[in-house]
Parts: sequence; structure tokens; C-alpha cells
Amino acid sequence: SVTSARDVRLSLDGDVNYFTGRPYSDRFKKILAKRKELAVYDRMAAFYEMFDRNQVCLYVGETGSGKTTQIPQFVCYSDQPHLKGKMIACTQPRRIAATSVAKRVADEMDLPLGKEVGYSIRFEDVTTPDCTFLKYMTDGMLLREAMADPTLSRYSTIILDEVHERTLATDILMALLKQLIKQRADLRLIIMSATLDARKFQTYFSLEEGALVPLLKVPGRTHPVEVFYTEEGQEDYVEAAIRVVLTIHRSERPGDILVFLTGEEEIEDACRKIHQEIEFLFSHKETASSIGPLTCLPLYSSLPPQQQQRIFDAAPEPRTHGGPPGRKVIVATNIAETSLTIDGIVYVVDPGFSKQKVYNPRIRVESLIVTPISQASARQRAGRAGRTRPGKCFRLYPEHVFTRELEVQTPPEILRSNLGNTVLELAKLGVKDLVKFDYVDSPAPETLMRALELLYYLEALDSGFNLTPLGTVMAQFPLDPQFATLLIESPKFGCSNEVLTIVAMLSVPNVWMRPVHRQKEADRAKWLLSLPGGDHLTLLNAYNQYRQNINDNKWAWNNFLSKRNLAKADNVRLQLQRIMERNDIPLLTNFSDPESEVQLHENIRRTLLTGFFTQVAHWDPEKKAYLTVKDMQPVQLHPSCDLEGKPDFVVFNEFVLTTTPYIRTVSAVEPEWLLKEAPKFYDISSWPESPMREVLKRASKRLNRKTKQGAAA
Ligand code: ADP
Ligand code: MG
Repeated sequence: SVTSARDVRLSLDGDVNYFTGRPYSDRFKKILAKRKELAVYDRMAAFYEMFDRNQVCLYVGETGSGKTTQIPQFVCYSDQPHLKGKMIACTQPRRIAATSVAKRVADEMDLPLGKEVGYSIRFEDVTTPDCTFLKYMTDGMLLREAMADPTLSRYSTIILDEVHERTLATDILMALLKQLIKQRADLRLIIMSATLDARKFQTYFSLEEGALVPLLKVPGRTHPVEVFYTEEGQEDYVEAAIRVVLTIHRSERPGDILVFLTGEEEIEDACRKIHQEIEFLFSHKETASSIGPLTCLPLYSSLPPQQQQRIFDAAPEPRTHGGPPGRKVIVATNIAETSLTIDGIVYVVDPGFSKQKVYNPRIRVESLIVTPISQASARQRAGRAGRTRPGKCFRLYPEHVFTRELEVQTPPEILRSNLGNTVLELAKLGVKDLVKFDYVDSPAPETLMRALELLYYLEALDSGFNLTPLGTVMAQFPLDPQFATLLIESPKFGCSNEVLTIVAMLSVPNVWMRPVHRQKEADRAKWLLSLPGGDHLTLLNAYNQYRQNINDNKWAWNNFLSKRNLAKADNVRLQLQRIMERNDIPLLTNFSDPESEVQLHENIRRTLLTGFFTQVAHWDPEKKAYLTVKDMQPVQLHPSCDLEGKPDFVVFNEFVLTTTPYIRTVSAVEPEWLLKEAPKFYDISSWPESPMREVLKRASKRLNRKTKQGAAA
């Protein structure tokens, strides 16, 4: 039988919480009134009609119509996970969406966050065993859970949300769940998205040839949005965006503004400049009385939760009674495109860029690049202006760019990512034939080859591409396989304590703060914490100093370090330590006396090569650049690197593609170490002729001589 929407409404309008039997608070009723305005809420009966009769269904609704917050709650009434000891999962591509929506839904259900309703993101599990029945989580976390429990037996319904984003993890989950629903008749699946080529997914999930999975499409309550273009492209789109915000504030009717920029630095910079300009206008008599107050708030993924929550606050009140109304400006990354909906936005400023993952299998590097968005993204962004009433969208590029230069859709992430991690996950999940695997969109064969090759060099896969025992341990860590390798190999070098710290520090957002006005001071503070040998050792030192000064509240601040991110690193370190302990990987520091510090530091740098042997570059004095090994891609040291001089060989963690390609987080290494710590990869007999090969050949001879001398002695 089909769940009665009428009964659910009666229960919600009653006095007692259906899930706990406790009386509802006044706040519950207030939020309920808001929920009733959502388009999704109106279609509750239609939803149950579809959901209760089908194992798999699709739900497509415009952004802000209430999918993410309401549908999982509807499912709770029908599926009753709390009565059968199961859970409902709702996946999100972004951490910030998972945490923010979980909080909102806990409030909507009148329950404390972390009990019946919780969330789980990498390194942060806010759920209670035997209590949580609705769990918001990143798609990556559900994929990890599938590795430990391939039938996902704890879940009775899985909702894949924001499928239109086509993240790597969501794509893989779709393929896994398509298999799983055949095995588990009791498991139900909802595919949710904003805009989507629904037909493609209706066919993909259908278990019978020619049949289609049912679809419910809910149009949002949106108003028309007028789109404006600039005459020409903008040289500095941040400056241009700021100008447009100020013009809107001075000349347009009330309504909040949403600006799309690409990353934290840009966003903080823009917010600061907007505030300065507003201060300036207030300090002048001619303008002070004619403009209203303005709050400008940033929104990006590493923002602390309390600050995230502020974007939902109302715009400021007029400065004087009856004075010009206040306005709220949110400067956001593309998180605000579909993941989070902010009510009250009437104006959108869209420079037309976002940071996107790009992978080049030829040179084996993945990086985030500021890239023009797609037409689909531009439409989504414009749509954010029409939620409350008719709105305006200012695109900071000419119309012909939109029609002729922007791609129609953003290509799925699986086509532009390094697949090392994914292939390891699939191997752990028992997927044998990676080429024939039922992808929604298949990755490029070259990308798959690169991933297999890397995992073979890391000895996670054997020559038949079967998972090795080492690979099984590697897969236990919620890390890229290279990082997991460092943790596994570090005891051999007697420095697992130190390497664990470095991996933890590299798993959290940047700890170094560099405020615009105080860059010199910040650089000096960092220089004081630097150790010879490179950035990895400096990170280790920063962490150790932080721990030593843990009782000094001001220490981090005084040293231009982010206390919040250091505390995060501390927590991540502890979690990784537990996984090491479970796998009998000993934690040791074999060189604790000051005399052997040099040896310790050398061993740490050697350990880096056990995982990152493909990310090595060699200084070419003629080209005045570093060249990456094997692929000879010229790169420069990023200005943030604190290496002294230009060591011949360096290992790096990150590749940053701007106008010049940079390498970041870099340490000096020796050519002999390459041959010793990564002999499979540096088997130069199979390499084509190159200057690098010559250098390595000489190193190989030196190494042989040393070994012989050692043997003779
Ligand atoms: P969709 O998933 O269809 O894009 P959502 O369910 O995310 O829509 O959003 C529905 C409504 O809930 C929106 O109006 C949004 O503003 C509101 N909302 C979501 N999170 C919060 C929050 N933390 N505080 C206040 N309102 C919120
Ligand atoms: Mg949503």
C-alpha cells in the first residue's frame, strides 16, 4: 500500500513528534510553515505514489525546490528505518552541503544534530550508532563504506543527490548500486538532481531492455530572470564583479546579491574590497545618507561552520528608521550554484569561471584550474536570482561568448580526473574488468592505464592487476594511494611518527595564513619555522611547535598559522593513527637524539619517494626550469616554497597550473634515493634517451660502487 500523504501532514500538524513521541517545539511549527511553501512539499502524494511502488526512481526538481531537505524526510515516514534498525543515506558531492543540510534537517525535524539525524564526511562522523536513521554524507564516504560492506547492509534506502554534478564518486556509486539492487530486493534507490538528462538515467538504471525507470519532475516556483552581458570580456573579473556589486547597491531596488568567484583567496579579497568601498561611501556626506548598509559574506568549503551559517541571516536593517534598506552580498564558489540555496537573492553577478579538476594522463598530473563554466552552469547561476521575485543576472562576458564559446555541459569528473584512488577502490570492491565495467560514461583508456600503472608501481596490484595484500591495507586509508603508501612504508625508515604528521598536515586545508596587509610578517614567521630540506619538514616542524605550545592560546596566531586547521590536523592524525594500529603498522621515531636529526630528516625525505616517485622534477640549468621525470614538463617552484637554492632533484605534492605551471609543497631529494626507493619506476633500462636518463645512469653507477664498497668492507 502507498503511504498516505494526508496522514503524514496530519502528523506534522499534530503536537507530537512522530519519531520520538516528544511534543513539538514552537520553533518546529515556524519552520514547518516555511517548508509548506516549497514546491516539493506540495507533491508529497505524487512522491509516495512513485517511491512506494518502485525499487528505483528518479526525482528531478529545480534548485531550491526542497529536494535535499524534504525528500529524505518523506522517505523516513514511508521506509520507517527507525523501526527496523536501518538507515537512510542521502549523498552530497560537497562536504559543506552534507553538514549544512544535516543541521537544517535536524532543526526541521525538531531533533538534535548527531542523534537521529547526522552526517558523515571524511574525518568527521557525526552520527550515533543504533540511533541515527537519517544520514547525510559525501558520496565519497558512501563509496568507502561500500568497500567495507559491499551490500551496504545498514541502509534500506539510498538517495543519490545532486547527480547532475557527475562527481567521480557519484558516478562510481551509480554503477555499484545498479548491481546491488539486483542482489538486494529490499534496497531502494532514489536518483535526485536539479537539471539532468533524465532519459539517460532512466535507461541506465532500468533492469529490462527498453524499459524506463519512473521519473517525477517537479518544476520550481521560479520567477523570470533578466540576463545582461558586458560588451567586452573583462581583464580582471574580480574587480569587475566588485564594481557591479557597488552599482547594484547604489542604483537597484532592494534584494540580496550573489557573486560567483572561484576560490577562498579571491573571495576573501573581494569581500574586503567591497567593505572598504562601502566604508568610503559612508564617510562622504553626498553618499552617506543615500545608500543603505551592506553586509558582505564569503562562502567556500573550508569556511568554519558558524560562519557558513551566517549566510542564512537576514540582510541588515536600515541605518535610520525609514532610511535606505540594507542589503546582503554573498560571495561564493560554485557551492552556491546548486548545492546550497540562499533565500532572498535577486541579483546574480557571474564572471563565468570556476575551479575545475583537470587531469592530463600524459604528464600524470591532476590540478585545479580556473576554467570557463558551461552554459548549463551559467543557467543554474542565473536561476538563483529568481527564487523570491523577478531578478537580474549580470554576466561579465559578451553574449557571443555564452553562445559560441561555452561548452553546453560540464564534462563528468570521471573524464577529467586521476583515477588512482578509484581504481584501488574498485579493485577492493572486487571489480575485475575495469574496461568492461558498467560506467555511466567510460573514462579514457589512457587514464585507466595510468591508474593501473601507478598502482602496480605502488605494489597495490600485481602484474595480473589483482589486489595484493599491500593494496588491501592501502585501501583501508581514506587517502590517495600514494599517501597511504607513505604511512605503510615509513616504519622501515624509522620515522612513522613524523610521516604520519606530515600526511595529516597535507590532508587539511592550508595551515599557513598570509593576510594581505601583513604578507611580509607572515613570510618571516614561516621562514622562522622552516627547516632545511623543504616544505614537508617545515610542516612537521610547524606541527611539533604547535603541540609544544598547545597551552599558549596566542601561539598559532602569533606565528601566522591557522589554529583551526592545526587542530584539524591533530584530529586527522589521530584517526590515521588508529588505522595504522589496526593494521599493525608501528609508530616510531628511531632518531630522537639531536645528533641523528640529520639522518631522521633524510629518512623522511626518502620515505616521500616511496609514494610520490612519479612526482619528481630535475633542475635544468639551460632551460632555467625544473623538468618532471619521464615526461619532461617544465615547471617552476611555487613562490610559497621554502627551499634554499635550487636542489638538483625535488619531490612535489601538488601541481598548480596557472599561466606558468608551478609545483608546490616540495622537498629536496637525491637521484640515488630515486633508484633505491622506487626501483620499479626508475628501471631506466626501459626509458627512452633523455638528459634525465643520463643523470640517473651516473647515479646508478655511484650507487653500485657504494654497494660494492659496502660489501667489500
Ligand atoms: P534543493 O535541494 O531542491 O535545491 P533544498 O532542500 O536544499 O532545495 O532547500 C530548500 C529550502 O531550505 C531553501 O529555501 C533553503 O533556503 C532552505 N534551507 C536549506 N538549508 C538552510 C539553512 N541551513 N538555514 C535556513 N534555510 C535553509
Ligand atoms: Mg539540493
